[in-house]
Amino acid sequence: MNTLWDTHCHLTGYRDPIAILDEATQADVDVVAVTEDPGEYRLLRARLGRRSGVTPALGMHPLRAHSFTPADLARFLRMLSQATWIGEVGLDFSPAGRATRNAQTRIFEAILGDPRARSLPMTIHSRGAEKEIINRLLQIDVSSAILHWYTGPATLIDNALVAGAYFSFNPAMTATAKGQTLLGALPMDRVLLETDGPFTRVGARPARPGDLPRMLGHLAARWALSPDDVIRQVRDNQQRLHTSV
Ligand SMILES: [Zn+2]
Repeated sequence: MNTLWDTHCHLTGYRDPIAILDEATQADVDVVAVTEDPGEYRLLRARLGRRSGVTPALGMHPLRAHSFTPADLARFLRMLSQATWIGEVGLDFSPAGRATRNAQTRIFEAILGDPRARSLPMTIHSRGAEKEIINRLLQIDVSSAILHWYTGPATLIDNALVAGAYFSFNPAMTATAKGQTLLGALPMDRVLLETDGPFTRVGARPARPGDLPRMLGHLAARWALSPDDVIRQVRDNQQRLHTSV
């Protein structure tokens, strides 16, 4: 197992996923490859075989809710027995997702309703629906909920911490004032790393899992720790997730 985990990467979004994984291994980074529907998950698993350093995550993306049928949801729930990570799942009540609010909620509730899903690390999209998601996390027990690229109000952070949630940071977040403020507001033991690649950028190109070690400097400055202590902290946080990876 590699040192750092990219807990949210859209591996199939890159032109050459295998080259991305090779580079990640070189950089000592493991990849959680999120998917947007059960078909993508099945295909990814088949393509990757037993390759180490990458864990496919079973997902149903909220912005795809308009296209999901009851059969897709049934397929997701059936595949839970093979899954070791869940994601990308969640809600998006921003203008992009507002029209499918009800369909999104039905799907997310069905996923949360399954104890197998709740027992796995779950990387959650929460744009515009931060309050709804954090309130649900306060009511139910998700072993390892990870709020991915959190952009919601700072007033909800305390409730998210009470609910036991983690927050995953990507390179784009560490470059924004909002991301820096969030990082400053969180206890070190709730911080994880992600790229959300290839949908975020590092300079002019899409972020890649191999970029994660370069984020350690930001964390070291913010936490006033040595780079080695930052690695130790992030590893501790990763190990605490309920995972068989
Ligand atoms: Zn994503």
